[in-house]
Amino acid sequence: MSQRTLSIIKPDATKKNLIGKIVARFESEGLRIAAIRKAHLSRPEAEGFYAVHSERPFFGELVDFMTSGPCVLIVLEGDNAVLKNREIMGATNPADAADNTLRKLYADSIGENAVHGSDSEENAAIEIAYFFQGIQVF
Ligand code: ADP
Ligand code: MG
Repeated sequence: MSQRTLSIIKPDATKKNLIGKIVARFESEGLRIAAIRKAHLSRPEAEGFYAVHSERPFFGELVDFMTSGPCVLIVLEGDNAVLKNREIMGATNPADAADNTLRKLYADSIGENAVHGSDSEENAAIEIAYFFQGIQVF
């Protein structure tokens, strides 16, 4: 079933000049780029995006990091895109991530972990609408 999901190439990965490698990986795994834009998030944008984590001890650190440099916001499309993207990303903590996942290859720590990916079809729709107002999500 074709799905859409939100990916974010985070500021650590844009700083390392990895945008092309990460986008190429998505394409090589059969996902298509439905929409893409580079953006330096404001604090309110980052806080709103991660509002579900606002009570977590790492929230301030997460917002500091996500606003520390440019991100690339991507809508990925393809069969089973939500789960496929999570598999390509690997575990949140790169120390636990499987070989050849983006986080194993490119991330330095559990906080600065290269990429974001929606964790469910429902959250994908919410997250895509958050950054791509007016886009068709289903
Ligand atoms: P994921 O991005 O794999 O879905 P979560 O939704 O649990 O992971 O967390 C969102 C983001 O918050 C993570 O990608 C990471 O950047 C940051 N984060 C999560 N846990 C920690 C932690 N223990 N310390 C610092 N940052 C964290
Ligand atoms: Mg998450």
